[in-house]
Amino acid sequence: MSFSYQRSSALFKEAQKVIPGGVNSPVRAFNAVGGSPVFVDHAKGAYLYDVDGNKIIDYIASWGPMILGHAFDPVVDAVKAAADKGTSYGMPTELETKIAELAVSMAPNVDQIRMVNSGTEACMSAVRLARGYTGRDKIIKFAGCYHGHSDSFLIQAGSGAVTFGSPNSPGVTQGTAKDTLLAQYNNLEQVADIFKQNEGEIACVIIEPIAGNMGCIVPQEGFLEGIRSLCDENDSLFIFDEVMTGFRLAAGGAQETTGVKADIVTYGKVIGGGLPVGAFGARQEIMNHLAPLGPVYQAGTLSGNPLAMSAGLTMLSHLNNNPYIFSSLAQKTERLHKGIDTVLTEKGMPYQINRYGSMMSVHFTDQPVIDFASAATGNNEWFKKFFHGLLKRGVYLPPSAFESYFLNNALSNEDIDKTIEATREVVADW
Ligand code: PMP
Repeated sequence: MSFSYQRSSALFKEAQKVIPGGVNSPVRAFNAVGGSPVFVDHAKGAYLYDVDGNKIIDYIASWGPMILGHAFDPVVDAVKAAADKGTSYGMPTELETKIAELAVSMAPNVDQIRMVNSGTEACMSAVRLARGYTGRDKIIKFAGCYHGHSDSFLIQAGSGAVTFGSPNSPGVTQGTAKDTLLAQYNNLEQVADIFKQNEGEIACVIIEPIAGNMGCIVPQEGFLEGIRSLCDENDSLFIFDEVMTGFRLAAGGAQETTGVKADIVTYGKVIGGGLPVGAFGARQEIMNHLAPLGPVYQAGTLSGNPLAMSAGLTMLSHLNNNPYIFSSLAQKTERLHKGIDTVLTEKGMPYQINRYGSMMSVHFTDQPVIDFASAATGNNEWFKKFFHGLLKRGVYLPPSAFESYFLNNALSNEDIDKTIEATREVVADW
């Protein structure tokens, strides 16, 4: 059966007249894969229901947050109940303390947490806090890691850029770019060199402890541990960007699964239960530097908003009370991994599948994918055929090879097996 997306196509044309590129966040526009994005009508459990009446198996889960499936009843009920009481006050509520207590009890090495409205805000604020705490300007980030769209993070890789960052978005000034130093993921030696060349100047290293923004890339043994030691030796802070991994890989996120301690942790996605929430946390001594206690300024009119906090608290409580969900998600992802692995091996084409817990990605290359450069060797023509072939069969993958799949707990083994069969059909004609 071939799915048709005619009405989506028509709506996309309308949208482009009044919204830049027809979308409110670029990757939704299908630039990497071509064609017209799918316009959603509603979603429930593991499925998207689009404006053409298609029922589609969803592997992005709103890019991570819908970990329990779409429109999870307890979350929807909590949001409705909160809305009845008013949608924002700009004043403290008990709800904010409750979600902070729960998040802090789940997250290792975090005494206090501050809520914001997106992952971008969380990472931007975490870096400001690290700079304020250490009194230093420079930060190290990794090529291919995404920490939101604030200026310091929009720095591209490139030989000259390794020591002196250069902007990859017009609008980011050279003055900002020069304080962001770039390293290759999984290259500890390079990180050590950057520390040596900038002695006493590095405020922090920020990393996706399991990378999800160049496909899924797993840290090699000793990589995170090595950075931890370098940060300790240089009195720099280590920031884990757990916007994707937090409350998804385990209750304690990647800090728990890798056993590596972060100084500041950023969260997003799952912590908001699908509403716009981000957060950052650290030990007391660091958080004391934040306004109103300390001089590092950070604020938000809608931060701690009661709708978002109700959704987030319900989501986190459910995960905390049902920790089997983390292993169940990993098992589902393993089933999908093994199935696609078998199909592609039988076909005899070059590919790599990277997986960590419930994050995974397929790369059409014969090289191990361990950093941005190796991720970029993937054959995008094959990726496009793979993506559109599955979409025609009612399976929605991330529309770019530089994104991770995010499985949700509403997916059944039957959904996963259907996906594997669809994959077999897609590659049969290649
Ligand atoms: N950090 C990471 C690791 C992310 O994946 C993202 C978004 N995908 C962000 C930060 C930014 O989050 P947001 O889109 O909510 O601003």
